[in-house]
Amino acid sequence: MLIHLKNIDTAVTCDDRDHVYHNTELWFEDGKIVRIGPFDRQPDREYDCSNMIVYPGLINVHHHLYQYFTRNLKKVQNYELFDWLKALYGVWKNLNEQTIYLSSLSGMSELMRYGCTTCFDHHYVFPNGAGDLLGAQFHAAKEIGIRMHASRGSMDLSEKDGGLPPDSVVQRVDEILRDCERAFERYHDASEFSMRRIVIAPCSPFSVSDTLYRESAALARALGVHLHTHLCETKDEEAYTLARFGKRPFAYMESLGWTGPDVFYAHGIHFNDAELDRIAETGTKIAHCPCSNMKLSSGVMRLPDMLRRGIDVGLAVDGSASNDGSNLMDEMRSAFLLHRLTWGDRAPGGYEILKLATNGSAKVLGRSDLGSIEEGKAADVFLIRKDRSDLLCAIDDPTSIFGNVGYHKPCDLVFVNGTLTVRDGIVLGIDEPKLIRDSDRELKRFLANL
Ligand code: ZN
Repeated sequence: MLIHLKNIDTAVTCDDRDHVYHNTELWFEDGKIVRIGPFDRQPDREYDCSNMIVYPGLINVHHHLYQYFTRNLKKVQNYELFDWLKALYGVWKNLNEQTIYLSSLSGMSELMRYGCTTCFDHHYVFPNGAGDLLGAQFHAAKEIGIRMHASRGSMDLSEKDGGLPPDSVVQRVDEILRDCERAFERYHDASEFSMRRIVIAPCSPFSVSDTLYRESAALARALGVHLHTHLCETKDEEAYTLARFGKRPFAYMESLGWTGPDVFYAHGIHFNDAELDRIAETGTKIAHCPCSNMKLSSGVMRLPDMLRRGIDVGLAVDGSASNDGSNLMDEMRSAFLLHRLTWGDRAPGGYEILKLATNGSAKVLGRSDLGSIEEGKAADVFLIRKDRSDLLCAIDDPTSIFGNVGYHKPCDLVFVNGTLTVRDGIVLGIDEPKLIRDSDRELKRFLANL
């Protein structure tokens, strides 16, 4: 089917040459962009995009969608990471397929309303008998039409072995690895424009043994999938690895084979200069989660130093309970302000922040088919109207709106893989009143043990 977006006011492409087109059009066919500009063909479907600005779809590179049901809990609002985790493990052990399905649907709908077209989720809690949790996530993703990378995460180091989580949320190494292979065989699609991929993602140095880290890396490399973990999120973690292994977190991970272009870390806040040099040399990548880092008082990532070294950085909202939203437009604004405050004129500008959330995130996920508006790339775009009061007098530079000005309305149109998924701020693939009813019911069951 040939789809035509006509009368586009402005197209911000985020391509390598930073092209911005005015009074243009886009053509999609078989899920990809086949033409920017006039095209001598008859479309099957047309959308009038007068007064609209089109951007590449935003890409979220770190999330814990299951935490949607523990958003804004009064009991844990003032905690920092370790205390916050210890308080919540006991709730998370009650999740099942229904919790995962509804939280994935809710979180990814919110992401998509605000321009996100690809979501990576880091799921790492697999209670006994909880069912096929990744299957529930991919099912939710398919219903709303978002592109999804899901992780088979894991924890095997419980309190009794010197880790942070209780026994109820950890598993044995052999059962974890077996389930990673099952998830890969069942769900991974390595093809171009793939809508679903698997990532192998043990949780963090304080909940994962060295054996599980090593075996996970070997398995991921044998299967050709990416590796992900939390790293250098807090000073507590640094104190933990120094005390337990006599190494700083990055040195510990490097000793386990956890560097390279197939590895991306969440957070990456507390690196020193030599560690940043090694990250650049090895092509290791970083998912930046500014709202979560501020909320949990974790610290400020050295973003200008990373970008100067050519390290690939993508943008992410982190878990629903440490943000507590799933909105990459908000995340771009927060990233812009946080780094301006911290680094002054060394901080990235509004457009560079947009490029982190598009192009940068695509590189972090290893997706050369995503992240910019170019012929031959996936037809993943979002559009906003420029003729509304929110943007009055603010469109002199459409490339930097999200950082410099902040934009807080749902999108007018979102396309994923060439399919319309959001119109006038409504996610077309869900029955919203039903989702709210079902989620309320599940929330009561889930929080019963808090
Ligand atoms: Zn996280």
